[in-house]
Amino acid sequence: MATVAALVVAAGRGKRMPGEIPKQYRSLAGRPILTHSLAALRNHPQVSAALAVIHPDDLKLYEAATAGLDLLPPVLGGPSRQDSVREGLERLSLLPGVDRVLIHDGVRPLLPVAVIDRVLAALDKTPGAIAGLQVVDTLKRTDGGLITATVSRDGMWRAQTPQGFHLEAILMAHRKSAGRELTDDAAVAEAAGLEVAIVAGDARALKITTESDLRRAERLLAGATETRIGSGFDVHRFGPGDHVMLCGIRVPHGQGLIGHSDADVALHAATDALLGAIGDGDIGQHYPPGDPRWKGAASARFLADAVERLRARGGRLLNLDVTLICEEPRIGPHRDRMRAQVAEILGVAIERINIKATTTEKLGFTGRGEGVAAQAVASVALPAADGA
Ligand code: MG
Repeated sequence: MATVAALVVAAGRGKRMPGEIPKQYRSLAGRPILTHSLAALRNHPQVSAALAVIHPDDLKLYEAATAGLDLLPPVLGGPSRQDSVREGLERLSLLPGVDRVLIHDGVRPLLPVAVIDRVLAALDKTPGAIAGLQVVDTLKRTDGGLITATVSRDGMWRAQTPQGFHLEAILMAHRKSAGRELTDDAAVAEAAGLEVAIVAGDARALKITTESDLRRAERLLAGATETRIGSGFDVHRFGPGDHVMLCGIRVPHGQGLIGHSDADVALHAATDALLGAIGDGDIGQHYPPGDPRWKGAASARFLADAVERLRARGGRLLNLDVTLICEEPRIGPHRDRMRAQVAEILGVAIERINIKATTTEKLGFTGRGEGVAAQAVASVALPAADGA
């Protein structure tokens, strides 16, 4: 299978007043536009690496915008968009195994997964494939405000991004076209004689160039969310110790809980609930118990990472409900602190979190006091998937 990297072009200056923040770093639904664009690609299951090309003046903005995202170090862009893309491609060509690239405008933050899927699928047949929209309006050629001709819209498309290519082919094409002014990467490919397919893009993947585009993107995001639910369950066994960690709170107890990390069974169930809600596997996959990086790790890190994954998809946590199942220790006296702690880890209002506890009437392993179980349910709002 092909190894796909994403290259997000964000080095543009645009035309703006001094002191104004470049538009790719403007906020859209609480996150920079560029963050949405990068996360949309990086979180696609077939994309294994992502790289942004940025302006040297924007390093600080970039770092703030991408904290928590798993990205390659940014490349500093050249004088033109074409130079920037070429610099990015040169860098990607040094990565072992990468053979396909998706080039995307940093100011197209609303990128449906299905568009990425279609571009990648088309690359199995042609060395280039881009997203586009068929022209539906009648086209007029004008001169001085007067119509001189009606142009047939048959076969006419508006090019969007991502534009996907076989890496080697597009890199060669860019090297050949250096210095020429071509408007997009498909044009670079065409100039080199590469076959480029066009597949259905999405009207939501608009390019944000004006204030009104930004407002439209805000409305699209606000009006296009869907609710998802995930569940989590976990058990840890009692062993020697003098305290247990539950919901990030140290609870004094005559025994401890055994586990590779701090064995916080409640946070593990909560982490799995969040990962479940966003369709992103489970805790063992992201923080494998055999990995020395996570040995003795505070489980709060897992939960904080899971909520970051949710935010990277443009989503937010609606509520989380955790049930602790044990005879001992007693949860009641610690419940308020646990709730506050979980809300803090997740960065949400305390009203969105509930912590409750039950026993199993002395039945089963929890009833015999052999360990603690926890289950959690999370609901999240995510940008709506397009029909997928
Ligand atoms: Mg666990």
